[in-house]
Amino acid sequence: MKKQFIVIGLGRFGSSICKELFKLGHEVMAIDSSPERVDLMRKFSSHAAVANATDEASLRELGVRNFEHAVVAIGENMQTSVLCTLMLKEIGVPLVWVKAKDLQHQMILEKVGADRVIQPENEMGIRIAHHMDSDKVVDYIDLSEDYSIVELVASEKLMDQSLLELDIRAKYQCTILAIKRGDEVNVAPMPDDQVKLDDVLVAMGHRNDLKRFEEKGI
Ligand code: ADP
Repeated sequence: MKKQFIVIGLGRFGSSICKELFKLGHEVMAIDSSPERVDLMRKFSSHAAVANATDEASLRELGVRNFEHAVVAIGENMQTSVLCTLMLKEIGVPLVWVKAKDLQHQMILEKVGADRVIQPENEMGIRIAHHMDSDKVVDYIDLSEDYSIVELVASEKLMDQSLLELDIRAKYQCTILAIKRGDEVNVAPMPDDQVKLDDVLVAMGHRNDLKRFEEKGI
């Protein structure tokens, strides 16, 4: 379903969000104070406008309150990003996601009402570390402090065994959400579905249990 997004701040982070949302078929309004940055985004957005993110009148004039979801991607200038977040919430944008540069910035953003705070370098660093930690990990997503989803490559240890035989939930307290084989994804694996060599298993569980499964079970 087509949604309406605003991206404010078109640096590396903001511009990649803008391009990707637009590519996904959504309506995206791109805003930056730099005319050059705005020009670069014209063909990757539905509307592109030069405006100061802390000027409430300009934001209102651009009709930001008609959008359901905004991303504030002004990382370096903490004051600007905090003020812009505050205004977007005041104006009534239901969802405001904001990029933070550090924990202090994150705490302030949460206080002024940001719905989600992202520290891209931090989050990416954690994911990359998990890839480096194990050559079985294909991808990694944190659900909370304790729970995660990991994609793991199946070794010959699991080859040609069914999920029932492997009994992963009982042995490791992990749930197999999906099995990927080449381009195919089995999103509702049944107990008698077999695992093949090099399948990717999408597993959810407590991080300690996932680690145990990764080290001993797969
Ligand atoms: P990244 O690290 O993702 O490249 P930056 O923090 O370098 O992000 O980029 C921030 C972007 O926000 C820049 O394009 C900059 O022009 C824009 N920006 C900074 N201050 C304002 C402001 N007051 N109003 C609108 N855009 C701003």
